[in-house]
Amino acid sequence: MTLAHKLSEERRARLAAERLLELKQAELFAANRKLGKHAEQLSNEIVETRAEVDSVRTENQKVRSDLEVANEKIEIAERRLWHSIETIQDGFAFFDSDGRMIAANPSYLSVFDGLEEVQPGITYARLLQVLTDEGIVHIGDTSSADWRKAMQDRWHKKIPPPVVLRLWNGEYIKLLDQRGHGGDIVSLALNITDTVRYEAKLKKEQKRAEAASRAKSAFLANMSHEIRTPMNGVVGMADLLLDTGLSEEQRLFASTIKNSGEALLGIINDVLDYSKIEAEKLILRPEPFDLERCIHEVMTLLQPSAREKGIVLIVDYDLFLPTLFVGDQGRIRQVLTNLIGNAVKFTSKGHVMVRVVGETHEHTGHCEVHVAVEDTGIGIPADKIDHIFGEFNQVEDERNRAFEGTGLGLSITKRLIDLMQGKIWVDSVETEGSAFGFQLTLPVEEDLGLNPPALPSVVRNVLVVDDREVNRSLLEKQMQQMGATVVSCSSGQAAMDRVSDVDLILTDYGMPGMDGLELTEALRARGCTVPVVLLSSDPARVQADPLMNNLQGVLKKPVSRRDLFRKIADAINADVPEITETPELPDKVDQRKMRILAAEDNKTNQLVLGKLLKTLDIELRFANNGFEALEAFEDMQPDMIFMDISMPKMDGKEATGRIRQKPGGTDVPIVALTAHAVNGDEEGILSAGLDHYLTKPLRKAAIFDMIAQHIPKHATNPFPEEEPRQSGT
Ligand code: ADP
Repeated sequence: MTLAHKLSEERRARLAAERLLELKQAELFAANRKLGKHAEQLSNEIVETRAEVDSVRTENQKVRSDLEVANEKIEIAERRLWHSIETIQDGFAFFDSDGRMIAANPSYLSVFDGLEEVQPGITYARLLQVLTDEGIVHIGDTSSADWRKAMQDRWHKKIPPPVVLRLWNGEYIKLLDQRGHGGDIVSLALNITDTVRYEAKLKKEQKRAEAASRAKSAFLANMSHEIRTPMNGVVGMADLLLDTGLSEEQRLFASTIKNSGEALLGIINDVLDYSKIEAEKLILRPEPFDLERCIHEVMTLLQPSAREKGIVLIVDYDLFLPTLFVGDQGRIRQVLTNLIGNAVKFTSKGHVMVRVVGETHEHTGHCEVHVAVEDTGIGIPADKIDHIFGEFNQVEDERNRAFEGTGLGLSITKRLIDLMQGKIWVDSVETEGSAFGFQLTLPVEEDLGLNPPALPSVVRNVLVVDDREVNRSLLEKQMQQMGATVVSCSSGQAAMDRVSDVDLILTDYGMPGMDGLELTEALRARGCTVPVVLLSSDPARVQADPLMNNLQGVLKKPVSRRDLFRKIADAINADVPEITETPELPDKVDQRKMRILAAEDNKTNQLVLGKLLKTLDIELRFANNGFEALEAFEDMQPDMIFMDISMPKMDGKEATGRIRQKPGGTDVPIVALTAHAVNGDEEGILSAGLDHYLTKPLRKAAIFDMIAQHIPKHATNPFPEEEPRQSGT
């Protein structure tokens, strides 16, 4: 190889090396530039990050200080809360879901009297054990184990019921435990010792007050009995005195004694009833009874005062309504007596009408009975009507001051209706009249499938004669409901021209111009043979009249449905015109006298009863007590017995019970004579085996009625011909 060649090769190699160097230098430069940029970016990032770190640090510091403030606040709140919890008198504790105590205030712990183990950490089960082992809690007759079990069971309930514990020192703690989230329990132990003691004191006071009230009631009952017995004597004797020959002045004195005595008895009854209801001593005695009859009996008692004033008494008892119900007859009668009595008292002209309607629910066998007592009297001012059922409420005005009364009647009535779960209301227009209504739901005693009473089939056309529109329209309605066609006239004269084609005449007795008897006589004189039934509020007067023979029946007003239909049927079957109204009294021939035994310890009452019965043709014997009544029963075998209820040695109920055991004792009718509502006298009278009861003062009409109902077939009629059976007084 030549040198030149070598040199050129070296040159080429050098050139190549130089080019490579240049290339590497360019690369190095580019790499350097990139590195520089990266370094710049990095330093920028570092600056940014540092700034961020700074801001986070500041924020952290703020958060930390906020947290410190919040912690401080929490601490203060917790301190305050605990301070409060610790200072409250009632015990307070927390338990976790395992029943371990988390915290408790001193009051809670104080019950355990410094026992060291009772502190946070102790379990509820152990607490109960300590309570029983140390005798801290009074557990009564249960065993410790049972008591703890009961407490544990309660504790595990979702909502543990409150429980009252009695502690050894006589204090009472009421535990109220509440389950929170996660099963924690907050337990509150309230010290209710004062409340319990106060309650006990109140109960003691209440018992004392009740005992005092009972003593007062008993005193009232005894007092009233003591007052009632002589008062009955006063009233009864005054009544008898009035039957003797007296001068006008003497008659006035005697009737004043009688009226004042009756008024006083009424007041005593009201006060007694009121105090009885007040003392919640009044017990209802439901028994089967006839509502319609009950209304008519009340009407009969009020009839004399109504007649005196010229007021008509009317009963409109729905023809399709049952009459036999189960209820406290005595109390329902009392309600009726008060409402109808008030209506008569506060009415001087027009009428008093008792309407009875109702709805029977066949599936329950109950009937919703509505009774309304309407009058055309003085009415009640609108501003007084709201207070009318309150105590001692009399509508105070001049017109009213003339009327006697205690102002207790309506308040007693309302309470009785409330007691029977009924409703009572009033509606009144001053000077026009009032309507008092009540509603009772009563079980029906009769067979609901029974048809209402029916008219005999021959009665298609009926002539109704009455001068009073209200009476006419009631009879018209009743006859029409039974399917008859009715013609009605307001006077006897008008009726004379309307008798053709009628099958029956229903006529009022007292009418201006021509009365019912005169009308019948005129018709008979003309040869008219249509049966006539006469309606009168005083049938005794009619029965005494010789013209009475023209009639086929006499009905006492207000007329009960049963009487109306029975009399119509009798009249249709009767011969015209000789038929007389013959009561179901037996013939006199060959018969003995009716025997009546009266057991009555009070001599005055014996005298009154003796005088009342003096006009009757009977054999009467008195017994002074229950024992004597028993002896007399065996000795005389009476046809009926009047039995006083409260008698010494053996009372009327016991005597009745014993008579019922004797041969023939089950059949003899026994009528209780009782003072009204004394000490529960009326309660259980009928359940003691007595058939009826009459309240004192004894009234002639009621006694005669009772006797008339029980005249035996083989006895003579005790009522003398001239003595009408129903004197109507
Ligand atoms: P008493 O009749 O004994 O005064 P009540 O409680 O029975 O007591 O009646 C209270 C008052 O209500 C009566 O005094 C009378 O003013 C008024 N009152 C009651 N019923 C009627 C009535 N039918 N018409 C007018 N006022 C009546």
